[in-house]
Parts: sequence; structure tokens; C-alpha cells
Amino acid sequence: MNWLSNFIRPKIRSIVGQKDVPENLWQKCPSCEGMLFHRDLAENMNVCTHCGYHMKISIQERLALMFDEGKFERIAVPNVPQDPLKFRDKKKYVDRLKDAQSKTGEKDAIIVAFGHIGGNPTVIAAFNFAFMGGSMGAAVGEGLVRAAETAVQKNAALIAVPASGGARMQEGMISLIQLPRTVIAVQMVKDAGLPYIVLLTDPTTGGVSASFAMLGDLHLAEPGCMIGFAGKRVIEETIREQLPSGFQTAEYCRDHGMVDLVVSRQDLHATLSRLLSLLMCRQIDVPTGSGPGRGSSKAGKNGSSDVLAAKAVSAGVAGAHATLNQLGQQVELDIESLTPANEVGDVSQDKRRVASA
Ligand SMILES: [Zn+2]
Repeated sequence: MNWLSNFIRPKIRSIVGQKDVPENLWQKCPSCEGMLFHRDLAENMNVCTHCGYHMKISIQERLALMFDEGKFERIAVPNVPQDPLKFRDKKKYVDRLKDAQSKTGEKDAIIVAFGHIGGNPTVIAAFNFAFMGGSMGAAVGEGLVRAAETAVQKNAALIAVPASGGARMQEGMISLIQLPRTVIAVQMVKDAGLPYIVLLTDPTTGGVSASFAMLGDLHLAEPGCMIGFAGKRVIEETIREQLPSGFQTAEYCRDHGMVDLVVSRQDLHATLSRLLSLLMCRQIDVPTGSGPGRGSSKAGKNGSSDVLAAKAVSAGVAGAHATLNQLGQQVELDIESLTPANEVGDVSQDKRRVASA
């Protein structure tokens, strides 16, 4: 043994070197319990490479994967009075705030950013679940109002990305008043004729799902995420009935009409680009030539702007359908509702062509 431990082991050590091996190189998937190498996981946008389970992702990573080339500029959120109720439970609310601020490096649970998605100007208001469970207090409400104002100013689409346990109880009624405030903020965007899309992520619950998060022109959701108002256990105890399995998941909400599309993280940017181009039809890039989702930009002699716009809309519809089919989703966008009523003319013909294609 002496020869082994005194000679061989030091030799091997000198060859291999005494590098510090970081401990948490591997992570267990909470769904399939498969082991995941952290680098693979990061490259796969925190989606399990074995079963496709979507783990939580940091807010910076989420914004980077949504915007074109990961580029965006932060929009400052106005300051609000901190702890106006001087609330205290086991701990003072101001101390909780300070802890969350030092942990996340952010002022509160929302980030507002402006950039482009598929070339379309877009404002994203994203919740930071790491900040007190993404709870909605005055600062978050203020953030959503600022996001809506910015969208209107910049003539941009608004995308809300909730990840929240609901209203922030430490702010009592002040947090509840954010529900109507955010609803009015969203209405501002709609009044300006701009698209408002919600990307529901895990979890979207409580006061958040009871306000702006359920008012989108389109509701997208991440696979498997929890969407609801009260939790399953609370409902079961109240109505004294067993709830179906999969209740309050993204897929369940889609099958019951609350969600339009369940989109995996890999397809998120492409899907958002397509949908935004469709909704903001002035932005559609209509390439010449044939192929799925391609229309003709050659309007010829009668190439009035209306005809061009109509063609662009129909090309967008075809493109959106192609995307949806690729995703294997059984979702049918209502073509009629997506087509501006005053641009019928050429569209009906194009639609027939789309339908027969
Ligand atoms: Zn897994």
C-alpha cells in the first residue's frame, strides 16, 4: 500500500493537477429526474434536454432570448414611496425589500425594456420572480403603466411576461389598486391600435392573473407553467371536489380556451416575430418567390398601398399558419378577426389561395 499511496498517487496528482472542481456542475431535472450538465442546460435555455421540462430562467436571459440578437435598452421605472403602510410581519417590509434588492440587484420585481422582435418595435414588461415571488406592489404597477406609455410613445407592441404569486400583501390596498391601474394601462395600448401580447410563465397567479395578464390580444404560455387565480388545494377545499389532473397548467388552459398557444422557449422568438409582424402589418417583410408563407410583393400596376397592405396581411396569415403547423399546435387563428375590415378586396382571393395551399 505504501508504494501505491506514496508513489503512484502523487504521480497521478501531478499529471492531473490539483484543479478545483466546481461542485454544482450537474443538476437534476425536477420532472424526469435526469441529470443535466449545467453547460448543456444553459445552452438549451434552461429546458431539460431529456424531457423538455421548462425550468425557471433569469429575467436577463429571458429578455435576451426574446429580443432580436438579445439587444434591448432598459426603460427606467419611476420611484414609488417604499413601505407607506409601515408594514411588519415576522420581518419589517423595508428589510424584506432591502434583502430582495441586494439579492437581485434590481429595485423591484419588474423590468421594462425596449427593443425589436422580428424587426417590430416592442416593449416588454417582465416580472422577476426572484424578487419577492414577483409580487405586484406599487412599483410593479408603475412599471406596467410606464411600459404601456412607452409602447404608445414609440408606436410599439407591448408584451407582458408575468411570473408572479399575485398582489404584494405587504402593501395591502395599495397593491390591490394596481389591478385596475394595469387594466387601464393595457387599454391605453389597445386604444392606440397597438398589439398587446401576454406570455404567461410559471407561475401566473392571484391578482396578476385577475388583471392585465388575462387581457392580451393573444395569450402565449410556456409549456407546463401554472396559470390560475387561487391554488388547486384551496379550490378543492372550497368546492369539496377533486379537480382533474393537469388542472391550471398551460396545456389545460389552452384546451379550455384561456391560452391561444403553448410555445416552447426554442420557438419563442420565431413565433413572436411572426405574430407581431402579422399584427403590426406595416412591418411585414414580403419576399418575392414561392414557398410556404410567402406572398407576392409585386402588386403590379394596381399596386395601391391598400392592396399591398392586404397582400401583406394575407402573407402574414399564411406565414403564421405555417409556424403554427410546424409547432404541431392545433390552434386556429381566426383569420377574419386578424384581417382589417377595410382591406377586404384582394384579401378574400388570397385567403382562398392560402386555404387551398
Ligand atoms: Zn427532464
